[in-house]
Amino acid sequence: MTWLLPRLLMAVLAALLGFVVGAVVRKVSGVDSLGLGFGVACAVVLTLLVDAVRGHRLLGWLRGNQLENAPRDTGLWGEVGYRIERAVRDRDRALAAERLALEQFLSAIEASPNGVLLLDAQEQIVWCNRVAADHFSLDPARDLRQRITNLVRAPSFVAYLQAEQYAEPLVLGNGRGQGTLSIIVRDYGAGMRLVLSLDITERVRNEAMRRDFVANVSHEIRTPLTVLAGFIETLHNLPLTKAERDRVLVLMTQQTQRMQTLVSDLLTLAQLEGSPRPAPDRWVSLDAMLTRIAADAEALSAGRHQMRLKVHTGTELAGVESELMSGIANLVTNAVRYTPEGGEVEVVWRLLDDGHGELTVVDTGPGIAREHIPRLTERFYRVDGSRSRETGGTGLGLSIVKHVMQRHGGELLIQSEIGKGSRFRLVFPAARVRAASDAALGDEAAFGAAALSDS
Ligand code: ADP
Repeated sequence: MTWLLPRLLMAVLAALLGFVVGAVVRKVSGVDSLGLGFGVACAVVLTLLVDAVRGHRLLGWLRGNQLENAPRDTGLWGEVGYRIERAVRDRDRALAAERLALEQFLSAIEASPNGVLLLDAQEQIVWCNRVAADHFSLDPARDLRQRITNLVRAPSFVAYLQAEQYAEPLVLGNGRGQGTLSIIVRDYGAGMRLVLSLDITERVRNEAMRRDFVANVSHEIRTPLTVLAGFIETLHNLPLTKAERDRVLVLMTQQTQRMQTLVSDLLTLAQLEGSPRPAPDRWVSLDAMLTRIAADAEALSAGRHQMRLKVHTGTELAGVESELMSGIANLVTNAVRYTPEGGEVEVVWRLLDDGHGELTVVDTGPGIAREHIPRLTERFYRVDGSRSRETGGTGLGLSIVKHVMQRHGGELLIQSEIGKGSRFRLVFPAARVRAASDAALGDEAAFGAAALSDS
């Protein structure tokens, strides 16, 4: 009611002015009623004039963008202006808060790893995040208000959207033709639809790999089992001489060993996948490992190859001894198995300038064609299946080597050329390599000494 007092004051002022004007008119004209009439008219006109000016000012402010304050008049108009300004400011604040909440909500959806697309009742795109734009090859700005079925024309997607049966997700190739999407649609609002897309390429690939793996393992085990079953039947049904019987038993032993090697390699792989990363501070002697591996390789070669295995490296590696042994032994065994009689097998250790350690296994075997090299570390991948099986291979060796190296932060590099032989390199990170003589010293000293021994 703060406006009431100024308003009353103004009315009193107008009445006073009217009274004075009325008195003057009455005195000049000598007519009482004329003086009264003039006085009242004067007071009313003055009040209306003041109201008109103030009302006009307030209307001018309302017609504008209301960024400035409302006119600060006293009385009724001032109060009305102030109240309107407060209502406008409250509305602006509420709008800004809602806009902020909407922006945060949209940026949360934007950050989602899934694609989110909103469609109106006419299947037009209302909004989509960047992931959805990428999945469906859309332009989030240009394609707004476009019908989705004009842009994503895959028949299965169009049919799925139109059938309006969304209980099961749709599996679809993504817009770029590689990869697979799982699409879920949900109705909301008045005929609007929410389309969620999830990239399941990795999942599909893993499932395919798992299926292949099971099929491969079954195949690898079935073959020796079939052979064994045949021999058992032969032993049952045929009267064999002792020599024939011994021969059959030797062949049966070979098949059993084959299955044992396979199961052992499978267990190694499973263990590699399931166990935590090897500790970076458990040091094992490379020389001790190479000595044992060299002895096994010599036995396997049985003098058929020229072996040049340098077992004195004076180096220690940080990791799990059984894994490192298995990784190196697989490479050396492969070199011996695949290199024909008279060929050479060489194992060399060297410390690289950047502190990395490199163990190289070189052979003068048949070599591997370029197109096979990227696939050699896949499970059960063989260039020459019969040669691999003949020599007791499981097709898992290089896969094990790759896993071991990955777990130790290193890598397996393969170079090979048909007719010239192969070179398999195991590169270990500097942090997992040190000179054995400095084992008792701190890491820094060990690193420095290792670098010296290389030069
Ligand atoms: P396998 O048990 O069959 O030897 P690996 O995973 O160890 O399985 O090797 C995969 C394939 O790579 C082998 O089947 C063979 O064809 C090829 N390979 C591996 N090492 C050599 C090598 N030193 N020389 C030629 N081919 C090789």
